[in-house]
Amino acid sequence: MQVWKFGGTSVGKPERMKSIRQLITEDGQPKIVVLSALSGSTNTLLSISESLNAGNPSEAKLKASELRAHYDQFLTELYSTPAGLGQGQAIVAKEFAFIDSLIATSPYTVKQEKEMVALGELLSTQIFEAFLQEEGISSALLPALDFMVIDEDNEPVLKIIEQKLATVLAPVKDKQIFVTQGFICRNPAGEVDNLKRGGSDYTASLIGGAIQAEEVQIWTDIDGMHNNDPRIVKNTFPIRELSFAEAAELAYFGAKILHPSTITPAKLKGVPVRLKNTMEPSAFGTLISEKSTDVEIKAIAAKDNITAIYIHSTRMLNAYGFLKRVFEVFEKYKTPVDMITTSEVSVSVTIDQTTHLDAIMSELREFAELEDPDMNQVIVCIVGNFWADKEGIAIKVLEAIKKIPIRMISYGASEHNISLLVDASHKNDALNALNEGLF
Ligand code: ADP
Ligand code: ASP
Ligand code: MG
Repeated sequence: MQVWKFGGTSVGKPERMKSIRQLITEDGQPKIVVLSALSGSTNTLLSISESLNAGNPSEAKLKASELRAHYDQFLTELYSTPAGLGQGQAIVAKEFAFIDSLIATSPYTVKQEKEMVALGELLSTQIFEAFLQEEGISSALLPALDFMVIDEDNEPVLKIIEQKLATVLAPVKDKQIFVTQGFICRNPAGEVDNLKRGGSDYTASLIGGAIQAEEVQIWTDIDGMHNNDPRIVKNTFPIRELSFAEAAELAYFGAKILHPSTITPAKLKGVPVRLKNTMEPSAFGTLISEKSTDVEIKAIAAKDNITAIYIHSTRMLNAYGFLKRVFEVFEKYKTPVDMITTSEVSVSVTIDQTTHLDAIMSELREFAELEDPDMNQVIVCIVGNFWADKEGIAIKVLEAIKKIPIRMISYGASEHNISLLVDASHKNDALNALNEGLF
């Protein structure tokens, strides 16, 4: 079985949903189809929450009614029979009644906010499944909230997902198309939660890992992983093949086409991931698998909103145990460190979660001197094959970027990654300069 995921723009218009119906049934093979919310819906639901958090329910109501009008119009263009339309209208009426009830809930807490933001995927999947029924396709809806679970650290638990999904699939196993929600899940308290923005990719690869799928396909609005961010750099091109390791680095370090964790379960279970373009299904896209090619420099990505912390040891030289104490502080506050550079008495690290920055800084100050952290930094990551005995790679990268001030450089941690830290104001120049110099 394959798992195919369609992102927001791929389901965002009625004609797109119709072409997806075509795509998923063409080869007659059974599939689990993971859908995102219609493009813009998740943002609107979050913005309704913002209005509520700001104590403005009438603004929230207005935004909800505009969203509802969008769905009402969508339905009339999607369904071709009165019965189908009636089905769609019943779904929209039910879910918007729930939105109204959330708007009326006081106090409006994180729990309600998570329920609110889940509605995008709940709507898109039910609307699409009703459309498949109208079209006479053998299909079933698999409620993600019945099998997609995360633990106390917000990490999905693949073993439990595997078991729960098998239970959900068993009674409908004879169907051909199984539709499920991306993004949403349940936390250990049994509440509705999510896998963070862009999380539908992760849902797809978790399902792919859980059922040991033949392949996971991520269908989006571009013809695969490009060698650089196409929103910032002109003349980027799609990369045909990536290894799991290379793709994982690119996703983690900011290539928006994939949620940062997408590759983890696929790599664990050896399930290939193919990136495909819904607007151009015949384009090759990108195949991510165990296989690596010997292309030296493959792609560049950038991760925003990075904070750099500069730590100096107050002890004498040669002190051991210093790094351990430093990292214990980050561990205590469950804050991942992305980049590290060291000198004899200093260590600089970067983080992208600043919730506990103040607490981290004050604990570090107990045994180290700190400079003011640099906020608003960007990690620019160059991905490829940088074998230890290969000469000339660092110079190529540094030559390309010679006009850009660099705060940190990390090279040698993996054979696939060179990372540079630059101020956000230099991000676009850095990506363009590297593109020019490296490709
Ligand atoms: P979806 O809604 O289908 O999940 P996303 O917007 O999350 O789609 O991801 C696709 C977008 O990612 C592309 O339209 C493109 O602008 C952006 N993107 C950023 N970096 C890359 C890259 N290296 N290769 C391809 N697309 C990228
Ligand atoms: N709808 C969610 C988002 O906009 C998840 C996704 O699209 O992958 O972030
Ligand atoms: Mg996405």
